[in-house]
Amino acid sequence: MINLDFEISGAVAVLRLDSPPVNSFGLELRRLIVDALARAEADPAVKAIVLIGSGKGFSGGADIREFGTPKSFAAPNLHSVLRTIEDCSKPVIAAIHGVCMGGGVELALACHYRVATSDAQIALPEVKLGILPGAGGTQRLPRVVGVERALNMIVSGNPVRAEQLRGTALFDAIASGDLRSAALDLARTLIAEGRGPKRVRDLKINMPDAEAYLQFAHNTVKGLAGPYPAPPACVEALKAAVKEPFEAGFKRERQLFVTLMASPESAALRHIFQAERAASHIDGIPDSIATRPIKRVGVVGAGTMGGGITMSFINAGLPVTLVETTQEALDRGLANIRRNYAGALRKGSITEERLEQRLGLITPTLQYEPLRDVDLVVEAVFESMEIKRKVFERLDEIVKQGAILASNTSTLNLDAIAQFTKRPQDVIGLHFFSPANVMRLLEVVRGAKTASDTLATAMALAKTIGKIAVVSGVCDGFIGNRMVARYGMAAHDLLVAGALPQQIDAALQKFGMAMGPFRMADLAGLDIGWAIRKRRAAEFPNQEFSNVADILCEAGRFGQKTGSGFYRYEAGARDAIPDPAVTAIIERFREARGIVARPVSDTEIIERCVYALINEGARIVEEGIAQRSSDVDIVYLNGYGFPAYRGGPMFYADSVGLITVARTLSRIAAAPGADAAFWTPAPLLARLAQEGKTFSEFRGSAT
Ligand code: NAD
Repeated sequence: MINLDFEISGAVAVLRLDSPPVNSFGLELRRLIVDALARAEADPAVKAIVLIGSGKGFSGGADIREFGTPKSFAAPNLHSVLRTIEDCSKPVIAAIHGVCMGGGVELALACHYRVATSDAQIALPEVKLGILPGAGGTQRLPRVVGVERALNMIVSGNPVRAEQLRGTALFDAIASGDLRSAALDLARTLIAEGRGPKRVRDLKINMPDAEAYLQFAHNTVKGLAGPYPAPPACVEALKAAVKEPFEAGFKRERQLFVTLMASPESAALRHIFQAERAASHIDGIPDSIATRPIKRVGVVGAGTMGGGITMSFINAGLPVTLVETTQEALDRGLANIRRNYAGALRKGSITEERLEQRLGLITPTLQYEPLRDVDLVVEAVFESMEIKRKVFERLDEIVKQGAILASNTSTLNLDAIAQFTKRPQDVIGLHFFSPANVMRLLEVVRGAKTASDTLATAMALAKTIGKIAVVSGVCDGFIGNRMVARYGMAAHDLLVAGALPQQIDAALQKFGMAMGPFRMADLAGLDIGWAIRKRRAAEFPNQEFSNVADILCEAGRFGQKTGSGFYRYEAGARDAIPDPAVTAIIERFREARGIVARPVSDTEIIERCVYALINEGARIVEEGIAQRSSDVDIVYLNGYGFPAYRGGPMFYADSVGLITVARTLSRIAAAPGADAAFWTPAPLLARLAQEGKTFSEFRGSAT
C-alpha cells in the first residue's frame, strides 16, 4: 500500500511517507506528496511543513522498477516534486531517519531545513548503477557539505552516517530523542522567529583552490574508474557546481545524467542490480513460504572448503559443529581458519576480542553425535561418491528430523547423494566457491526431490551469511563449472590452433575478464582437471581427452602451487611469466597431431571463448538448469570474473545481438575440422536469434 499520512500539529502539517519497504518515489507517492503540499500550502492555519518517513527510513530514492518505463517520466516527475518543495512559500523541513538514499537525499536537499537522527544513513549510490544523481544532488550537496566531501560521497556512492555530517549545513539539527518531536520543535522555532524558506540553491560554494582540486580529482578518478564513465562524469558535474550559477550547473548535471543513462555500462549495471533481486525468487514457490529456522549448523570436513564455509557461518554469528576424521585434520583445519583471519586482524577490520568470540562459536569434534541437534549440515568431505555415501548414511541416522542435509559437491550427482538418505526432500546442494569465506556466490542445487521449504530456507540462509544465491538444477558442473568447462575447451582449441597462453589470456583480460583462462587454470591447479580427464578417459575409452595441461602435469607443472604450469612463477610471487618450455610443449603437441600453427587474432579469441560460454548458457537456460538467463549472468559475474560493465555473458550476448552470436557460431561450426556439435548454436539461441529476440525476453527474465 502506498500512502501519505497528513496530520496537523498546531500550525505544522506533518506529511508522513508510507510506502514500504523504503518509501521509494514511484509515481503514486510523487502524486501524493505534491497533493499534500498543495493542501498544506493552501491552508492558512499551516505555517510550516514537516516531511517524515516511516518504516525503514526516510526514502530509498527513485523506484528502480520504473527505470526506463513511461512511469518514470510521468507527471509529476521527481524534478517537479523537488521544484514544488523548493518553491513552497512555507518552510519545509525534512525529518530523516534510517535509509536516505539517492532521490531521498535530493528531496531532502530541496527542503528548506533538515533534521536527522544521528544513525541515519545518507548515500548517493547512483554511481553504482553507472549514473549520477540527476535531480540536483551534484549541485546542492557541495553547497552544504563542501566540494571534497560531496565528491567522496558521490563518486564512491557509499553511505555516511548523519553523525559524521554533524556541523555541516546539510543538517540544521541532529535529533537526540524522538525525530518527529525534534522536527516539530524546529518548525515551531522557525514560525516563532518568522524564518521562512531557505534554499540550498542560493548558497555559495567557497573553495579558493577548487579548480586545481577538481582537476586533480578528475585525473585520479578517471584512472581508478577504468572503463566506467560515471565516476569522472560525477567530477564533471561537481566542476559545474563550482564554476557555474545553479541553473547552468543543474543543466550540465542533466546532460551528463542523460548521457550516462544511455551508456552500455549503465545498462549493464542496472541489469545486474535487477538480476540480483530476481535471483532470490524461486520458480513455483511463493516468496511467502514459511522457512525452517536455522540456529545451529554442522560442517563435515575441515579442509579448504569446510574451513571457509565454517567462517561464513561464524561471521554471521551462527554456531558451527565442525566434524573431522582425525585430530590432525581437525587441528590443521582450525589453524587454517585462524590464519585466514590474520589479514582482517592486520587491517583492523576485526578486533582480537571479536575474533576470539567468533572462533568460540566453533565446536570441533571427531564424533557425529554432536550433530544431532543442528538445523543444517554442510558436507564438505573428499569428492568421492563412496565417502559421501558413508557420510550421508551416518547423517541420516544421527541428525534430527526436519534438519537440512546439504552437500558442497562440485561434480557428483546430488540426486544420487539424496538417495543415500531416507529423507531426500531435506537434501540440497550448497555449492560454495573457493575461498568460501570470501566469494559471494552460492549455487543452491535443487534436487529432483528437494522440498520447496528446504530450498526456500537455503536461499534465506544464503542472505543471512551475505551470499548471493542462484538456484541451479542438477547437471554436471551445475551452472558455472559447466560453462567454464566450455570456455576452457574453446581456449585450448585456440592454443592447439596456433595461439599461446599469454596471447589468449591478454585478449580476454583486455575484454575485461579478471583473469585469462590459463592464469585461472594455474591458480586453481592443473592436477584437478588432469585427474578428472584420466577418470573420464577410463570411462569412455573411445573419446579423446588429451590436453596440453596433461603434458604439463606429467612434467610436474601443476600451476602456481608447484611454481610452474602454463606459466612459470618466481618463488613467493604470483606474476605469470611466459615460459619458452611451455611454448615447446605446445609445439610438440601440435606436431604430434599434424597441426600447422596458424595466426589467431584477438577478435577470434574473444568470439570463440565468450560465445562458447554463451552457447552453453543458452543450453542451461533452455534445460531449466538455470531459472532465467539473468541467473546465469549472476553466476558468471560473481564466480568467474566476468566484467560487470558488460552485464554478464547472456546480457552481453543480448547487447551484441543474438543474430550476430548465432551466425558467428554457425560459421565456426562449419569450418573444416571444427567440432560441429560443440559450436552449432544451441536451439534456444538459434530460435531467439531468428525471432529477433533477446535472452532477457525469454520467460520473464529479470530485465
Ligand atoms: P579438502 O581435501 O581440502 O578437504 C576435505 C576434508 O574432508 C579433509 O580435511 C578430510 O580430512 C575431510 N574428510 C574426509 N572424509 C571425512 C569424513 N568422513 N568425515 C569428516 N571429514 C572428512 O577438499 P575441499 O577442496 O575442501 O573439497 C571438499 C568438497 O568441496 C568436495 O566435494 C569438493 O568437490 C567441493 N568443492 C571444492 C571446491 C574447491 O575449490 N576446492 C569448490 C567447490 C566445491
